[in-house]
Amino acid sequence: MAATILDGNKIAADIRAEVAAEVKAMSAAGIRPGLAVVLVGNNPASEIYVRGKVKSCEELGIYSEKHTPPDTISTAQLLELVQDLNRRDEIDGILVQLPLPSPVDSKKILMAVDPAKDVDGFHPVNVGFLSTQRPGLVPCTPAGIIEILKRSNIPIAGQEAVVVGRSDIVGKPTAMLLINGNATVTVCHSKTRDLPGVCRRADILVAAIGRAAMITPDFVRPGATVIDVGMNKVTDPAEFHRLFGGNAKREETFRAKGSTLVGDVHPRVAEVAGAMTPVPGGVGPLTIAMLMANTLKAAKLRRGAEVPALSRA
Ligand code: NDP
Repeated sequence: MAATILDGNKIAADIRAEVAAEVKAMSAAGIRPGLAVVLVGNNPASEIYVRGKVKSCEELGIYSEKHTPPDTISTAQLLELVQDLNRRDEIDGILVQLPLPSPVDSKKILMAVDPAKDVDGFHPVNVGFLSTQRPGLVPCTPAGIIEILKRSNIPIAGQEAVVVGRSDIVGKPTAMLLINGNATVTVCHSKTRDLPGVCRRADILVAAIGRAAMITPDFVRPGATVIDVGMNKVTDPAEFHRLFGGNAKREETFRAKGSTLVGDVHPRVAEVAGAMTPVPGGVGPLTIAMLMANTLKAAKLRRGAEVPALSRA
């Protein structure tokens, strides 16, 4: 039986509507959550991401401002900008779009963001809060993964979860959220022995690898839930046909754009899994939705409000 497809667009829309309603209520009480986005230089992909984030703020009633220093900016000058944003009370969230140009010391910049305004959840203070189950800001993509599971009524407690990938941005925080949700968690990486065998133990399999269609059906226990975080661009026609030959909709996109977006999970996994997220339209839309939720959460936490355990699993 084909897997249930978990609709990330629908779940993201629900979260955005909830955030918008809370922002409206807060604004009526005189507090408008605010996000500052810092985009250094002219990386075209970063420009698209930042445009999406600012547009999303506008749609949800969140105040936003964009800072676009040139890529010649020094670490000291960028630190000054971050510190200025740290000081401003009307700014609840600060997002420094990565990657930063190589002369800039990225770690120093990310460390300088006030942890209370760190809506990406990358600051070591927030990493510590997550691992010790204290209220804090959780990285957006991992938080989105948990929302997909919860809102699809997929149980986490007591389940075997396998996360492939151990990055600070996706793999590790996802594993931590699943542990906090009482799953039994295994984290895999490029040195893991018998990766297919380990993955087959999973009730919940999360692929955050960055390799197109690497997770094939033999990695998946029949009926398992598969969350595909990967976003890989396939441009090679032969590879495209191996993956999507016969899929009319995909073929049309590939003809028009010369590329298609592919996850880390092979499309044929849909024949084995119980449920899975598509690419595009799965985890991706949750990332911006959770950034909006984090900005709202930061606005509340900074004012000492109790925040419900959204995404703490
Ligand atoms: P990283 O490159 O930082 O991490 C990749 C991880 O995968 C590493 O831990 C690496 O292992 C592991 N890995 C690589 N090759 C293999 C292999 N052959 N077998 C087992 N493990 C392997 O990537 P990110 O975590 O930043 O991103 C992962 C994917 O998710 C990317 O496709 C990215 O584009 C996508 N992404 C999607 C987002 C969304 O909103 N949907 C947001 C963020 C990322 P090791 O540590 O040993 O090197």
